[in-house]
Amino acid sequence: MTMRIIRLSYPIGNKDTLSVEQFKIPAPRMMPLSQIADGMMSNVSKMEIGLHSGTHIDVPRHFDQEGLTVDAFEMEDFIFSAPLLVNIPKNVGEEIEPEDLRNSEERINESDLLLIRTGFSKYRLADDRLYVYEYPGISPEAATYLADNFRLKGIAVDLLSIENIPKGRSRGFEVHKTLLCRRRKFIIIEDINLEPLLGEKLIKVYAIPLVIRDAEASPVTVFAEIG
Ligand SMILES: [Zn+2]
Repeated sequence: MTMRIIRLSYPIGNKDTLSVEQFKIPAPRMMPLSQIADGMMSNVSKMEIGLHSGTHIDVPRHFDQEGLTVDAFEMEDFIFSAPLLVNIPKNVGEEIEPEDLRNSEERINESDLLLIRTGFSKYRLADDRLYVYEYPGISPEAATYLADNFRLKGIAVDLLSIENIPKGRSRGFEVHKTLLCRRRKFIIIEDINLEPLLGEKLIKVYAIPLVIRDAEASPVTVFAEIG
């Protein structure tokens, strides 16, 4: 079969991007500055968007005041030549535990990006209350297990965030801190669509953010090479 490229980022737009003001995830806002329909020479717009709205990356500065910002990364840090998709179906209130990952240990060892597919993204637009509040995150134990034992450059999850935000708040966002506060380059990719990868042979993943100075996060265009 020939190589194909597929997009894993959700499009940015009011119908596509979840907005949860309570979690500082504002809806993107497109504002026309000039419109042909109004007799202007061209269409020109501006956009306002939260850096954690829609498919995005978190980098160390998100939880570490001295941590790296998006512009401190090299482009090669956003290209993954040994990505691994693991299928770990999870439901409301469950967490991804070390036991869920241990039987993939050898393969994680050889990987630079771990993509965890829980299937919970089926609720993203169908029942956004579940997707926003009740989603299964990675447990603090699983975060420590992954951070301590592997040389991953990043982790991606088909969830609003890598840890359930209400749970994370109550335990000091341990999962984010474990992964991001280690004074090394690391990216977390959140709110990504992993469904197109099921049954495919994954070759490479590209996660290209906006190179924003001093930013702790950025919307990201993620695409995969499959073959
Ligand atoms: Zn984020």
